[in-house]
Amino acid sequence: MGLAALAITLTNPAYADTLVDNIQGQTIAADGHVERFKAMLFDDAGVIKALIHEGEKTPKKGFQYRIDGKGRLLLPGLIDAHVHVMSTGFAALTLDLSETNSLAEALEKIAAYAKAHPDRPWLIGRGWNQERWKLGRFPTAAELDAVVPGRPVWLERVDGHAGWANTAALKAAGVTSASTAPSGGEIIRNADGSPSGVLVDNASDLVGTHVPPPTARDYDAALALAQREFYRRGLTAVADMGSTMEDWQTFRRAGDANQLYVRIMAYGSGIESAVAIGGPGPSPWLYADRLRLNGVKLYMDGALGSRGAWLKAPYHDKPDTRGLPRLTQTQLGNLMSRAAMDNYQIAVHAIGDEANAVLLGTMDDLSATYKGDRRWRIEHAQVIDPADWPMAARVAKSIGLIASMQPVHQTSDRLMAEARLGPGRLAGAYAWASAKANGATLAFGSDSPVELPDPWTGIAAAISRVDENGQPPEGWQPQERVSRETALAGYTSNAAYAGFAEKRFGRLAPGLRADFILVDTDPMTATPAAIHQTKVFETWVGGGKVWDAEKPEGGAQGAEVVKR
Ligand SMILES: [Zn+2]
Repeated sequence: MGLAALAITLTNPAYADTLVDNIQGQTIAADGHVERFKAMLFDDAGVIKALIHEGEKTPKKGFQYRIDGKGRLLLPGLIDAHVHVMSTGFAALTLDLSETNSLAEALEKIAAYAKAHPDRPWLIGRGWNQERWKLGRFPTAAELDAVVPGRPVWLERVDGHAGWANTAALKAAGVTSASTAPSGGEIIRNADGSPSGVLVDNASDLVGTHVPPPTARDYDAALALAQREFYRRGLTAVADMGSTMEDWQTFRRAGDANQLYVRIMAYGSGIESAVAIGGPGPSPWLYADRLRLNGVKLYMDGALGSRGAWLKAPYHDKPDTRGLPRLTQTQLGNLMSRAAMDNYQIAVHAIGDEANAVLLGTMDDLSATYKGDRRWRIEHAQVIDPADWPMAARVAKSIGLIASMQPVHQTSDRLMAEARLGPGRLAGAYAWASAKANGATLAFGSDSPVELPDPWTGIAAAISRVDENGQPPEGWQPQERVSRETALAGYTSNAAYAGFAEKRFGRLAPGLRADFILVDTDPMTATPAAIHQTKVFETWVGGGKVWDAEKPEGGAQGAEVVKR
């Protein structure tokens, strides 16, 4: 740009400003309370210039574009503080047969999927269930061959304990009449001894290991689908909990191609990935605040459902075990020190009360060495012994503590958690209000694809502890409910804070990115059931529209996204 042109731009700063009015605007304010406004002005770079409140004059001129909000509710773009971006995308890319009610219906779906994906060398799917189909037997390779004769097809059963192959897949894997099943597995055979197409348990590896790993093109397609899963539900940013180098390169390709619509705060999968991606430390914010490597994701233990969570006392429903740590305390301390030395933010998966106790103890110890604003994160923080809250409070006060929790886990896991923990240990389970009361910043998320990346279900659960079916009506351990403001902050300002992004997005305020959504339901007043049903009309990221419910097939295609 020549000097003359630059001068003109500078003297006409309002040239490409956009005014959004006829809205009921709502955001978490800097002080944590809800701030209401009736219009918003943002600039050409997608940065907010002003909120116009009730009693203030909405500008009549000085802007280039006007968006009529049609009286709808305008909220900050929501943030999911714990997702697995690429797994979400690959799940969306995979053929899903879990809703099919007959073999014929499944075969129809498989044929359509094959037609829709002519370039995929293997067709991969999951979710079939011959019981649901009332088939009375396993399906066969021949039945698959009838709809996909040429290309290998490999479909996992709903429980993951069997796979269904067509003849091309059996051939590619070299599974013949002569093949023997590995121990712990079974090859289902025809009367003549030839494999019928279904391989059970360990035998499924005979084919599974031949499925080609995803290509870069697959990664790109999966990322596009993942983003769509996010922005159509009103999410404009996510934290990716365990990015590999392949994941990061996929994010970078999308950014380079101007196709990164949802902001990603990445946490490297272990120290090796974090260091490989970040080198000497966290990356800068890239692509106008759309991507940053913040830190590292570590695992202290497993999950409650599979009894891998590490408890202080035995499982109520399996007294011979209390789960297992995935790291010793020494290993955890070493890994955390390694990360902290280079200022990587640390996010550690901890579910069981012993895992949380050891993690908090290690944080407490290390906070003497690694001072400052660290915002170390506990991912899930699912079961905390109330005796350990003082330790959490100490860490929160000295270096900042983030409790990254998933409200929908409480509603989904309620009965399972009662079985695993018994009645005596429920007080510290999914204890959002206690975490907040002890100084932790509550950042909310979904753990997608474990759960749908649906923030509305999460907000409804957070304020009620009642599930989608209204159970239990009085709320489960209702003392751990949070206020509506806290729930909204958990999905906006606090989720941004949890990723060191609070000066960039997460609230609507001058100087922050214009990430916002237009919806039909007010989370400050609606019933939990109504919040769960919230319709997202539009999603905007950095002043560009990425989702319009009236053009759902359009997705982010053609939307004016990154202006600068
Ligand atoms: Zn996770």
